[in-house]
Amino acid sequence: RRPLSTQVRETFLRFFEGRGGHLRLPSSSVRPRGDPSLLFVNAGMNQFKPIFLGTVDPRSEMAQYRRVVNSQKCVRAGGKHNDLEDVGRDVYHHTFFEMLGNWSFGDYFKEEACSMAWELLTQVYGIPRDRLYVTYFGGDLALGLEADDVSREIWLSLGVPAGHLLPFGMKENFWEMGETGPCGPCTEIHYDHMGGRNASALVNQDSPDVVEVWNLVFMQYDREGDGSLRPLPQRHVDTGMGLERLLTVLEGKQSNYDTDLFSPILTAIQQSSGAPPYQGLLGNADTGHMDMAYRVVADHVRTLAVCIADGAYPGMSGAELVLRRILRRAVRFASEVLQAPPGFLASLVPTVAEILGPAYPELKQNTDRIVNIINENEADFLASLQRGCRIIDHTLQQAPHAQEFPVDVAWSLHRNLGFPLDLINLMLKEKDIGLNLTALDQLAEEEAQKKGENQQREGLGRGLQLDVHSLAELQRRAIPTTDESPKYAYT
Ligand code: ATP
Ligand code: MG
Ligand code: MG
Ligand code: MG
Repeated sequence: RRPLSTQVRETFLRFFEGRGGHLRLPSSSVRPRGDPSLLFVNAGMNQFKPIFLGTVDPRSEMAQYRRVVNSQKCVRAGGKHNDLEDVGRDVYHHTFFEMLGNWSFGDYFKEEACSMAWELLTQVYGIPRDRLYVTYFGGDLALGLEADDVSREIWLSLGVPAGHLLPFGMKENFWEMGETGPCGPCTEIHYDHMGGRNASALVNQDSPDVVEVWNLVFMQYDREGDGSLRPLPQRHVDTGMGLERLLTVLEGKQSNYDTDLFSPILTAIQQSSGAPPYQGLLGNADTGHMDMAYRVVADHVRTLAVCIADGAYPGMSGAELVLRRILRRAVRFASEVLQAPPGFLASLVPTVAEILGPAYPELKQNTDRIVNIINENEADFLASLQRGCRIIDHTLQQAPHAQEFPVDVAWSLHRNLGFPLDLINLMLKEKDIGLNLTALDQLAEEEAQKKGENQQREGLGRGLQLDVHSLAELQRRAIPTTDESPKYAYT
């Protein structure tokens, strides 16, 4: 029997193939082709950007596209859409995820887009209507943008009750690919996991109880370098639904990590590391951050495998630096929290290839290469981790009564051994030794200025902080594990 994820993905693609003949296209590589505005492909629409902007070569195959459907490999770990910091802390943001999408290029518009989406969710996938909430663009007076009352009327006519229809502003309901590029008002569908009476108050509130699943964007503008909005020559539909989140709904789970896309990876983590089994705890309930480590490792190994298969390696700048940091983040959680042995991270790759290989064959074709690259990078980092520990011990022995660690030594650990600053801080805290973080920040600032890298630090650095301590701010919450059978039957 095929895993439910395979069936759910395939059902989406077939549904749109059957509706006015959407052309099924393969996922593009996660490396953006000829688009310096992106570090990674962050949405299904990226590869169609020239169509939206009206710059597509009229003789190319792409110029012929009217209706398209696909399942796109997306990475959100840098740039405008950066979810790295949420990974592990919540159960529905990943650095790598699959985006199911359908497009109309100057063909159908709002009415058909909404009614097909509603039919697929409620009749094909069988999700009860009363669990769904829909948002639409409420307009922005200052910017001279009107509310999208057309979408509101369409949803009402499809049977969405007024109490389940909510207007939001630019941040939530005006989708933009990046700092520049195609954009427009959007209407989004959210799922209420709890069946709660006040679910409408939780829409767009970062609550695990009501989670956004599908975004329908009406592409009408190009955001220019000077920040202005230029109307596009034609109007288009661009939709994106996270497969992991949809699957969670259909399997009747509360967490993406409990679906068949992740649970075999969690099992492999347990077997390779010997850590206690995954319990699905979040925040303070997750004492020792064991479950967070499981989630971070499972997420990051997928991202590394997909990116390396597409030819992006951990390295020293741009997207490759992001991958290096993702790898180090995973290795650190694995070795420090799960107490996993060397070689652990790469040992998970065959499981990832098993799960995603049917949809993305490049993972199977490149498994050995992925394993080797992860192992080399892991060994590098473990060696510096060891050297770093020795340097810390040695420094402390030299001044046995010091309460503060010398800032210059900490800086050199960071600068020369690639230690994340918060890791040094964490290791010192365990020994009850202080560290002047303000002074370190200043050094980092000076260094960045020297290199003229300010922009990079803003965009990339933020996601690297691993301040495990701030988890304490998260609410105490346990996510129950439910049985294996799908919740909503569909064909
Ligand atoms: P959120 O508000 O939850 O961060 P988003 O509004 O940033 O999501 P969109 O840019 O609208 O997301 O992307 C379309 C869909 O892709 C979302 O509705 C969601 O199902 C899925 N998605 C977005 N980001 C992620 C992610 N980091 N991990 C998994 N799925 C995601
Ligand atoms: Mg987001
Ligand atoms: Mg959103
Ligand atoms: Mg959205």
